[in-house]
Amino acid sequence: MSNSIAIIGGGPVGAIFALLNNSQKSKILLLESNSQIQTKNDKRALALSNGTKFILQKIDVWKYLEERLTPIKTIHTSQKGTFGRSLMEAKEFEQEALGYIISYGDLVTALQKKISHSENIEAFYRAEVLSFASKEKTQNLIFKYKAKEKTLNCDLLVLADGGNSEINGINIERSNKFFEHSALVTHIETDIPHVNIAYERFTTMGPMALLPNLNGQYSLVWTGPKGVIAKLSQLDNSEFLIALQKHFGDRVGNFKLSEKRMTFPLRQSYISKYPQENIAIIGNSAQIMHPVAGQGLNTGIRDAWILADCIKKDVNLELKLMINKFNYMRKKETKDILWFTDSLVTLFSNDIIAVNKIRGMALSFLDLIPPIKKKFVKKMSYGK
Ligand SMILES: Cc1cc2nc3c(=O)[nH]c(=O)nc-3n(C[C@H](O)[C@H](O)[C@H](O)COP(=O)(O)OP(=O)(O)OC[C@H]3O[C@@H](n4cnc5c(N)ncnc54)[C@H](O)[C@@H]3O)c2cc1C
Repeated sequence: MSNSIAIIGGGPVGAIFALLNNSQKSKILLLESNSQIQTKNDKRALALSNGTKFILQKIDVWKYLEERLTPIKTIHTSQKGTFGRSLMEAKEFEQEALGYIISYGDLVTALQKKISHSENIEAFYRAEVLSFASKEKTQNLIFKYKAKEKTLNCDLLVLADGGNSEINGINIERSNKFFEHSALVTHIETDIPHVNIAYERFTTMGPMALLPNLNGQYSLVWTGPKGVIAKLSQLDNSEFLIALQKHFGDRVGNFKLSEKRMTFPLRQSYISKYPQENIAIIGNSAQIMHPVAGQGLNTGIRDAWILADCIKKDVNLELKLMINKFNYMRKKETKDILWFTDSLVTLFSNDIIAVNKIRGMALSFLDLIPPIKKKFVKKMSYGK
């Protein structure tokens, strides 16, 4: 097996992958272009599934997150303009919670702390990988660190760069679908406490979610056409709260206060052609999905888990074959989850009246047929 593994990208997936391999003999090098402070400020709320909780417990990070996590006990799903709705409660499925909300910054900070105490992992922050070249069985990386260009060699290269960077010499073909939508993210206070209920509301503009978070606040994820979201992000606080109240209704009471707003462009992407070299691809670098079902990171963390497992078990397999096996193992789940999130967005975001009624009925049926509901919760929790 490989003696050294270089990981490009110290986002949540790259960092978790590093920690999953910490007990292996290989030397692990983690290269992250941002500083540690930059990542800390990302307030985007992430819903962690029970499968992710299991993995974070395995790497001994969960306990450091507990005081920053908010469990979701109930999920209320509705559609604007119809009476259909679905209610899922953790106790129905004998689970402590249906998921856990944490901010991106809190998660990455805890992972960085754990990494700083791991002997086997050497992490470089503000280290941007610029180019890559493969010579026989060795992978060479050139990166910029402290204003100087440096080179390193590794046996296995793991790409966890979120799918956005341009690195010379890494040739991946991706299939992209641009939704022309963005997501607006902020924290919101209301006059009724959230009691750990998450609200998912489908509107013809796009889905939106209010997720229970720390200090009784909600984290808002409001998606819609880019132009509309850009205008919403520029409103002053009171205008923004009025627009939100009008769009969401009064199910959670009056919206009182909102914090700084951030926006993210939305797209779907997956790999259509893998590189030839000894490169494994995980997380958003392998697939990007709409945040409607909160599955992007959870899917990426399962990539990290499966790849670490292949590295551990397939010690005698040639690296290229091990990577092929990993790609094959991840293909089905990725395809299923991309199809599922894309269908949700397409089905729930048009305003044809007949379709509107069917959608309302579908939500009510989900409530009436427990086996389907159970299957749905299992898929969201463990990806199967
Ligand atoms: C609004 C919104 C809400 C979301 N909600 C959820 C949710 O509830 N649940 C969920 O599961 N997912 C959610 N997601 C998806 C989730 O944020 C992503 O799936 C997750 O961040 C992917 O992690 P990653 O580590 O693969 O990539 P990233 O988080 O993008 O991290 C990649 C890292 O690589 C670094 N990097 C890039 N290029 C280089 C380079 N050349 N050299 C060195 N470093 C480099 C970057 O600086 C970055 O730190 C949401 C996404 C959005 C936009």
